[in-house]
Amino acid sequence: MPALILKPGREKSLLRRHPWIFSGALERIDGDPRSGETVDVLDAKGRFLARAAYSPSSQIRARVWTFDPLEQVDADFFHFRILKALGRRATLGLLPVFEEWSGLGKQPATDAFRLIHAESDNLPGLIVDRYGDVLVLQSLTAGSEFWRETIADILLEETGAASIYERSDADVRELEGLTPKVGPLRGAPAERVTIQEYGLKFNVDLVHGHKTGFYLDQRHNRRRVGQLAAGRDVLNCFCYTGGFSVHALADGAKSVLSVDSSADALALGRENIALNNLPEEQAEWLEGDVFELLRKFRDQARSFDMIILDPPKFAATSAQAEKASRGYKDINLLAFKLLRKGGILVTFSCSGGIDADLFQKIVAGAALDAGVDAQIVEHLSQGGDHPVSLHFPEGAYLKGLVCLKG
Ligand code: SAH
Repeated sequence: MPALILKPGREKSLLRRHPWIFSGALERIDGDPRSGETVDVLDAKGRFLARAAYSPSSQIRARVWTFDPLEQVDADFFHFRILKALGRRATLGLLPVFEEWSGLGKQPATDAFRLIHAESDNLPGLIVDRYGDVLVLQSLTAGSEFWRETIADILLEETGAASIYERSDADVRELEGLTPKVGPLRGAPAERVTIQEYGLKFNVDLVHGHKTGFYLDQRHNRRRVGQLAAGRDVLNCFCYTGGFSVHALADGAKSVLSVDSSADALALGRENIALNNLPEEQAEWLEGDVFELLRKFRDQARSFDMIILDPPKFAATSAQAEKASRGYKDINLLAFKLLRKGGILVTFSCSGGIDADLFQKIVAGAALDAGVDAQIVEHLSQGGDHPVSLHFPEGAYLKGLVCLKG
């Protein structure tokens, strides 16, 4: 087997079980591994550290499959890892009974969630989401690409899903020297599906939707926000297909104004209100730039009882943190101003480059500059189907604060 030999002292992160090997840590490469091929990783003295997927064009030159010298990386290996990931979801009560997959069980209240969360499920580069009986697979790295067919076969066998759609079109694939791949991978998946989330229905466009189609990481936050929204006038910024809006209206919000820059997302949002038989006259949709619209609302002296801010990633890495911080501060400051007294701000950051402490400081700075007193009453994060490996803190990307304006 080809091998990567590290420079002296560069084995430390691997000994802490972090799965990434950066190009700068490499002393030399023995053999001529292909993209995605399995390599042994050895310390400067030739001692085994890990078995990893080689990625020749990425700064992250290899990602660890296993730290066990006795474990081979083959179909059985992936079978076992996938079963472990499914087992975690079963523990969470998300896979209540496997019979449901084959249509024998009752319709579950939630049938869309993440089955495999890459590094945090010890399968670097591999994302698999379940949308009803369709799976959506996203392969992000040379290693997951190398084993994609094997993985697809195991997924069908173990989940009972009818089909798999591939959405390997994330930008990060470029860093791995991979081109986008989008289309059916197994069976004939529907391009549009209707999913259930805590008993509410959503139409999801698996082909054109963001990520794999839906922001599954916000599922339990959408329910929580719904519970807090009763009787309130809600402004949902960066609403996508209306996830928070549908939950808020279903739980008795007085009105919901939803804003997004994507006309397609808004159209689906409208559909989702109708799909749940919710009062369409209480749901208003506005296409535009949130940064501009918040200013316009301020100038018009509009006000709300609840504002949700769920922007896209402003900073993928800490290098972009400063610019991103300004963006977060801007929208949070405006939101604090638009909130009525006793109003609720639900504010999120999904930027890997902004940690929870920094995000809280930014929101605090926004409140200060807006001249308002506010309390954090809840901390929110990604759902348990997007777990965080203790050895991979980068996996904790979604941070949310529920703040009450005094
Ligand atoms: N809260 C949503 C997910 C939001 S994703 C849910 O629960 O499903 C972020 C959204 O922000 C995307 O739909 C994207 O189209 C939108 N967006 C990005 N930049 C924007 C901007 N400047 N103004 C308005 N919307 C924007």
